[in-house]
Amino acid sequence: MMTALLLALQLGTPPVYDRVILGGRVVDPASNLDGVRNIGLSGGRIAVITTRGLRGRDTIDARGLVVAPGFIDLHAHGDTPETYRFYTLDGVTTALELELGTSDVAAWYREREAGQRINYGVSIGHIKVRMAVMHDPGTRMPVGDAAYRPATPEQVAEIVKGIEAGLREGAVDIGAGRPSTCTLSPAPPVSRRRCRSPAKPVRPCTSCTSIVRVLARRL
Ligand SMILES: [Zn+2]
Repeated sequence: MMTALLLALQLGTPPVYDRVILGGRVVDPASNLDGVRNIGLSGGRIAVITTRGLRGRDTIDARGLVVAPGFIDLHAHGDTPETYRFYTLDGVTTALELELGTSDVAAWYREREAGQRINYGVSIGHIKVRMAVMHDPGTRMPVGDAAYRPATPEQVAEIVKGIEAGLREGAVDIGAGRPSTCTLSPAPPVSRRRCRSPAKPVRPCTSCTSIVRVLARRL
C-alpha cells in the first residue's frame, strides 16, 4: 500500500535530482551500455540513467562528450598532487603505481595521508627494494649493483624481508620489472640493450626465482 502510494507520488511528481548530466554518450563496459543518455544523481550516487528528460538542481550539459565510470590506471608512475590532477583530466579516478612501486610502503602512504584528489595505491617494488638492499645510487631506476650484479643469498633474504614488510604495510601487490634488473633476466640481448652495457657479460641469475619461491612459501 505504502509502496504503491510512493510510486504514485513519484509518478505524479517527477523527481528533482541533486545533479543531472544531460545528453552525453554514456559508455559503461560493465553493462554494455553505449548510447546517449541522461543521468540523475542524488546523495552523491547515480539514481537513474535514462533517455527521458530529467530535472536537477544542478545541470551539466554533456552533449558531444563521453560520460564513463572513472578509469583505473594500473601502470601509473606519476604520484604527486600535480600528476593526480592531470589524471582527473583524462577521467582517471584511481592511479596505482604497481610496477616500480616503492621500497617503503608506510612512508609512501604517509606522504599522501592528507588526502588526494583521486584514489591511489602502490606496490612493494622488487626493483626498489633491491636498489635499497644493494645500495644502488640510482634515484628512479637502478644504475649500479642492482642493475649489474646478482644478489648474494644474504641480499636475497633481505630483499624478501623488505617485500614482506611492504605487504604488511598495505602494498597492493609486488611490483616487478625484470628487464630493469639485468642480472635477473634470462634474455641477455634484451638485458644488454636495457643496461647499455654491451661490454659486461650478462648471465641469468637465480635470485629472482629464489625470491618468488621464498615468498610463495611464506604468503
Ligand atoms: Zn612503467
